[in-house]
Amino acid sequence: MNPELRPRLPCPFEKMHPSQLLRDDTFYMWQAYNLALDAWRQDEVPVGAIIERGGEIIGAAHNQRDSTRDPTAHAEILALGQAAKAIGDWRLNEATLYVTKEPCPMCSGATLMARLKRVVYAMPDPKMGCLGGATDLNSLPQSNHHLLVTRGVLEAECRTLLQAYFKLKRTED
Ligand SMILES: [Zn+2]
Repeated sequence: MNPELRPRLPCPFEKMHPSQLLRDDTFYMWQAYNLALDAWRQDEVPVGAIIERGGEIIGAAHNQRDSTRDPTAHAEILALGQAAKAIGDWRLNEATLYVTKEPCPMCSGATLMARLKRVVYAMPDPKMGCLGGATDLNSLPQSNHHLLVTRGVLEAECRTLLQAYFKLKRTED
């Protein structure tokens, strides 16, 4: 079917608006979650990513693989590109990535190559996650850059979202 004519999967989830006063990991993860909802509404697998540096959001993106037909258009890659552009440096060593699902091999590699300070992810991915789920690129013994990794922030919410999406997708196919 022509993708333009295909009815979109209805998204039953609402965006969350946490207080701006407490800017903790949960706050930033909700922003990533909201971007994942935007992805769903554009018929993309719902994954969202935020890059924070010094309390400021310098990158915010969701998965756009299908709309761009680009296999590298994952939320993390797009957000990292925005962040580097925003600060005029590819070294993001003061920045933290928040993402709703554990990064894949490509995106885990990119977080290391960008020399990020920290990665926070919601749900682990035992199949393709490369920051502890399937394997851990952050523990390469010869590497001299290591990330701080925090797992499980809003894990249940982000898992519910992704599972609901794939369940609907399956019944549609
Ligand atoms: Zn990825």
